[in-house]
Amino acid sequence: MFIDGKWVDARSGRTFDVTDPATGEVIGSVPDGDADDAHAAVTAADAAFGSWSTTTAHERADLLYRTWELLRSRSEELARLMTREQGKPLKASTAEVAYAGEFLRFYAEEATRVTGEWRPSARADQRFLVLRQPVGVAAMITPWNYPISMLTRKMAPALAAGCTLVLKPAESTPLCAKAVFELFEEAGVPAGVVNLVTAEQPAPIGDVFTSDRRVRKLTFTGSTEVGRRLAGRATSNLKRVSVELGGHAPFIVFPDADPVRAAKGAAALKFLNAGQACISPNRLYVSKEHEDAFLGTMVERVSRIRAGNGFDDGVGVGPLVNEAAVAKVADHVDDAVRKGADALVGGHRLVDEPYDRGHFYAPTLLSGVRDDMKIHHEETFGPVAPVITYDDVHDVIGLANDTDYGLAAYVYTNDLGTAFRALEGLRFGIIGVNDVNPTSASVPFGGMQDSGIGREGSHDGISEYLETKVAAFAL
Ligand code: NAD
Repeated sequence: MFIDGKWVDARSGRTFDVTDPATGEVIGSVPDGDADDAHAAVTAADAAFGSWSTTTAHERADLLYRTWELLRSRSEELARLMTREQGKPLKASTAEVAYAGEFLRFYAEEATRVTGEWRPSARADQRFLVLRQPVGVAAMITPWNYPISMLTRKMAPALAAGCTLVLKPAESTPLCAKAVFELFEEAGVPAGVVNLVTAEQPAPIGDVFTSDRRVRKLTFTGSTEVGRRLAGRATSNLKRVSVELGGHAPFIVFPDADPVRAAKGAAALKFLNAGQACISPNRLYVSKEHEDAFLGTMVERVSRIRAGNGFDDGVGVGPLVNEAAVAKVADHVDDAVRKGADALVGGHRLVDEPYDRGHFYAPTLLSGVRDDMKIHHEETFGPVAPVITYDDVHDVIGLANDTDYGLAAYVYTNDLGTAFRALEGLRFGIIGVNDVNPTSASVPFGGMQDSGIGREGSHDGISEYLETKVAAFAL
């Protein structure tokens, strides 16, 4: 763990192992921190806040630029570590490292753009000044599915704003987190400004983050269930929170769309990170007249996707994170097939050699999915594309909105009016129009309803770490 500028063991002396999800091999071990370690990390972050928050924006920007340069110079090494620890294909890991770097660069630039304002007064002898200042110590909890970019997406804006921080990464990907902290250390971050606590049991750390009065902000990315609980506790202690949670993205192919283009987009998007992405489409609504063309292209594309170890050439889908994830995917597919869906491709676990030591599920295409099936309502988080055929275009926005989630949605159409009506009618925070890559460091990322509170990336992302203060001057 990295506390107060030093690499330290857990106070208890305990450690836990990290395994490769493709082979089951133990690839390292890290300190197993507990509440005492979390308190020590908060103490270090609190002590460092006074000096870090009064550095100039230029000094903070310089640190982020240096970290970005180091990340770029190690991108191959970081990508290999990610494939080993998390399982995604090496090409996808390389892309994630570059995406992670974008947050460092963007917030290096954004650090110098935190400004105030003069505001008018009703009194001629009064002037108002509005200032933005860092909130204080930020506590961060990150997931395993994007084990480097989810860290920089939180750390970079917090540091740019002048906050100090304590971060707890997911228990299955602590080695990637350690590598990110090594970059900051090498870039010269002052002691106590960034602190890393690894733990096999997350709950005691979450308790400290949500109750220690020195923590002023909690930011969490993970499941809706855990995020709801943590946000509830943190807000009851009047901390600021942002939570990026689950999703159940609709992907709508309108009657005026090109079904082949849409199918190519869906096949490329759905299987990224083996479907373990919160913005992965989980309901593909295809209008009746495009069913054959869409499914034909999907069958051809999905059949070609090879599952396997992310280090092997030509592998498009890596392992799932653990056995529970494989069981959930199998449960969703089996339930759908039992209720009448057709598995046009895949539809089963991969259990024979060389898959037997890892957590693999075959890339799967389901047709004939209906709303009485689990997959229609619950987040699958796996490599399954469920296709729902619809008859009436007037119903489809309502069908897409029929979920408690509200993170990402995708629409395919060749009509600007249809695109605008969909954009305005869909209750989702991120919408791709004929586009399967609707994210960037420069735009806000986040959801509505059960998908979360707050935004990351862009100018909105740094606002999450800033307090507003007003000063009135009598002349
Ligand atoms: P998870 O909620 O189990 O874990 C996320 C993080 O929370 C991990 O670091 C974990 O250790 C920690 N955690 C779990 N229980 C905790 C507790 N009681 N106290 C404190 N921390 C606790 O989810 P996951 O399985 O890691 O990730 C999958 C989920 O995350 C999916 O639902 C996915 O949609 C969501 N996700 C959302 C986004 C987003 O930006 N919206 C990004 C990635 C993943």
